[in-house]
Amino acid sequence: MSEPEAFAGRLRDIRRRIDAACARAGRRPDEVTLLAVSKTVPPAHVRMAMAAGLSDLGENRVQEAVDKIGQLQLPAGSVRWHLIGHLQSNKARRAVELFDTIHSLDNPELARRLDRIAGELGKRLPVFIQTHLGGEETKSGCDENDVPPFCELLGQLPNLELRGLMAIPPYMENPENARPYFRRLRELRDAIQAAGVTGETFRGLSMGMSHDFETAIEEGATHVRIGTALFGERASTINL
Ligand SMILES: *Cc1c(COP(=O)(O)O)cnc(C)c1O
Repeated sequence: MSEPEAFAGRLRDIRRRIDAACARAGRRPDEVTLLAVSKTVPPAHVRMAMAAGLSDLGENRVQEAVDKIGQLQLPAGSVRWHLIGHLQSNKARRAVELFDTIHSLDNPELARRLDRIAGELGKRLPVFIQTHLGGEETKSGCDENDVPPFCELLGQLPNLELRGLMAIPPYMENPENARPYFRRLRELRDAIQAAGVTGETFRGLSMGMSHDFETAIEEGATHVRIGTALFGERASTINL
């Protein structure tokens, strides 16, 4: 079997599992965006993903994305790039230039900087607040209790568009054990929505990875971030 055929087979399998998880939860599959996480994946494989119909790609390092997007030379607007990894403030300008959506916004200072740069570039930048639910391996993320006031602040930044919340629950051998984390993120979103401090674009939940995306979808994920289940095991280890 050729590499593109193998890729297409993995993608079909993932789509089937997304559809089944949606059916179990009484949701429509078009409510869930499959984000192909292409970190460490060479440009040729990104082209293969695009040829198979994927148009949302996730990268976790700004510099790797700069290099890859430079090599790919894609027509403007052919894919949407999502930043899913920690963003250092000295890379903020590059990130605003390159990415269509930032999933890893986790502090007000970075928000103000992104807002100012987006304004300078004449862009409106969709963002998710990365939320630290406790127990995670990553230190990134806004403390759960600080998320509601952070949402209020974002309402005052005209060049950022708050789309929802993002989280990376700890790795669980049995994805069922990650369910309480996914549920908590959904309940936090619902509570913030109910408080009425956010606009109507605030409805997203970026959660679920290769080993637990079905559970995440059952709990309301709108964006699942899938790397290894699509592209195969990564060669190098990744810091989240
Ligand atoms: C690497 C990464 C993913 C994808 O992980 P897989 O287990 O390979 O699907 C998702 N989200 C974030 C933030 C990542 O860094």
